[in-house]
This record gives sequence, C-alpha cells and structure tokens, in this order.
Amino acid sequence: MEQQVFGGEQDSFGGERHSGRPTRPLWDAMRRGFQGRCPKCGEGRLFRSFVKTVDRCEHCGEEIHHHRADDFPAYIVVVIVGHIMVGGFLALEAVADLPLWAHLSIWIPLTVLLALALLRPVKGAIVGLQWALYMHGFGGSEDVVESHPELLERRAAL
Ligand SMILES: [Zn+2]
Repeated sequence: MEQQVFGGEQDSFGGERHSGRPTRPLWDAMRRGFQGRCPKCGEGRLFRSFVKTVDRCEHCGEEIHHHRADDFPAYIVVVIVGHIMVGGFLALEAVADLPLWAHLSIWIPLTVLLALALLRPVKGAIVGLQWALYMHGFGGSEDVVESHPELLERRAAL
C-alpha cells in the first residue's frame, strides 16, 4: 500500500513511478540551489538580487519563476538560527558569567548576521526542492489548485 501511495523509494516521489516524468535529483538540486545555482544545470545564477530569483536560467534556459518559496525559507532560517543561538547562549552561560550587556552585544549581532547569511542559501535549496519535485509548474503544467473529482462526480449525479 505504501509503495502505491508514495511510489516506492523516497527519491522517486514526484518522479517517473509516480507521474511518468523522469526523476529529478532532489539532493543535487537542493545543493545547487543552496549554492545559488540553477537547480537543473548547476551553472547559471539562481538569484538576481539578494533573495529575488531570476526568471530563467541564463545557462540552460530552465524557467525558475515557477517557484513559490514564499515564507518557508524564513521559517527554516528561524528554526536553524534559533537552535544555534539558544544553544550557544546556554553553552556560554554555563562556562562564563557574563553581564547582560555582554550577552546582548554577542548574540544580537550574531543572530542578525547568521539569519542574513542563511536566508539566500535556504531559499535556493527550497527552490531546488520545488524544481526536483515538479511543484508549482516546474513540470511544464500549470500550477492550479487541484480539484476533488469525486465531488464533481457526486454533484453531477445529483
Ligand atoms: Zn540552468
């Protein structure tokens, strides 16, 4: 049953067993996106400004504008940075007795810098994930809200 629902191996989700489309390399695409490169070819630039993606890869022509990363990269960055900062604060507090102003002068700049440093790579990885899984029009089809055919059939029968 699980094999029917998920198409067997995890790597093939969204790929050929699931939809008849060739499987795209998920981790390679996410790594390329993380490095700010096109998830398909790994050569062209993914971003035209800080977190604004290009519409199309300048190297292979792959359309990038389909992505809908939205707020997801920011949520991921909050989780990562939050864990690092809280862990770092607790570790430092355990070994040194610093006054509040010293903690603030360490952790606030570090939080801002780390969040800014991670936002673009994490967004690139999310775009790579969406590309590899054929999400939001990356497979060549329009990104439309899926209907519920069983409801349409029921309505037609009434
Ligand atoms: Zn490309």
